[in-house]
Amino acid sequence: MKKLLLIATGGTIASKYTEKGLSPQISSEELLSYVPSARDFCRIDTVQPFNLDSTNVCQEQWLLLASLIERKYEYYDGFVICHGTDTMAYTAAALSYLIQNNYKPVVVTGAQKPIDLAVTDARTNLLDSLRFAAHDKAHGVNIVFGGNVIAGTRAKKEFTKSYNAFSSINYPVIASIQESRIVFYIDDKYQITRPLTFYHQLDPRVFLYKLVPGSSGRLLEAIADSFDAVIIESFGVGGLPDYGDDSFYEALRNCLRAGKLIIMATQVTHEGSDMSIYQVGKSMKHEFHLPESYDMTLEAVVAKTMWALGQTKDPEKFRALFYRTINHDLLFYPEDVSSPLILCNKD
Ligand code: ASP
Repeated sequence: MKKLLLIATGGTIASKYTEKGLSPQISSEELLSYVPSARDFCRIDTVQPFNLDSTNVCQEQWLLLASLIERKYEYYDGFVICHGTDTMAYTAAALSYLIQNNYKPVVVTGAQKPIDLAVTDARTNLLDSLRFAAHDKAHGVNIVFGGNVIAGTRAKKEFTKSYNAFSSINYPVIASIQESRIVFYIDDKYQITRPLTFYHQLDPRVFLYKLVPGSSGRLLEAIADSFDAVIIESFGVGGLPDYGDDSFYEALRNCLRAGKLIIMATQVTHEGSDMSIYQVGKSMKHEFHLPESYDMTLEAVVAKTMWALGQTKDPEKFRALFYRTINHDLLFYPEDVSSPLILCNKD
């Protein structure tokens, strides 16, 4: 029988109603008591490193979870993390970068309703997660939610209240779960060739700057001052506005000279960026050799940038890490990643 570790961290799944609003109260053992049938197919230990609404989960907790799993890795066949849904996609992406070439399953799950309610998605999600984590083919970091198994780098919370809160963006689901039946659509456990690697460094100095019509490059410059990287969430396939003042051009030049990383992404959820299509994107991208997200999710781009910057501040090495496909995060990049990085070629 498989041996699993249930890691409870809070979220709605473990919440109770209080005068001040829903807050996490339910312990890891209590969570488990709501899915007694799990004992039929696995042995489970529990641990509770923190008990937070996931609004309060950040890099400190991501690193803590990764190091907890590292310490327990050899003792368990799989790990199930109960987590709030609000930042679950970020945590799953971060864990995908912190635990690479991972041949054991790390499942992140949660619920839209607390587990102690009569009508809730929590018991199904938890049972599905344990069942998936106990499956021979399961590996890597995945979110299990609403009957779907979504790669940890591909998930996005698209509904605030519905049970099917998470979608897999620009990528098929890894598997689907109907009661005790798990159907795998992607079965690649035995294709892992590199050694399991845990990482211990993240750089949280990453800012996500969402453009709106009228945004100024001067704001970009001011923001970049306090950060190591700025991800620009631009429009459509990607471009930067020019309202006749060259403010983005100037800002990019100054930011890159100051050693900041500027990464292009899109505010459109599906199909990804491609800066080379329009003049508003192509000229800037080529002039400044800007990395872009392509089909990666914003959550993955944020976590990947923090992880890659935690490993290197060298822009060329960063670029190589950024364009490395990790846990299914990136399918498409029509670039030569080994080409020299020109930070700024215009004086
Ligand atoms: N605010 C909650 C959290 O993210 C929402 C949830 O878990 O569904 O912790």
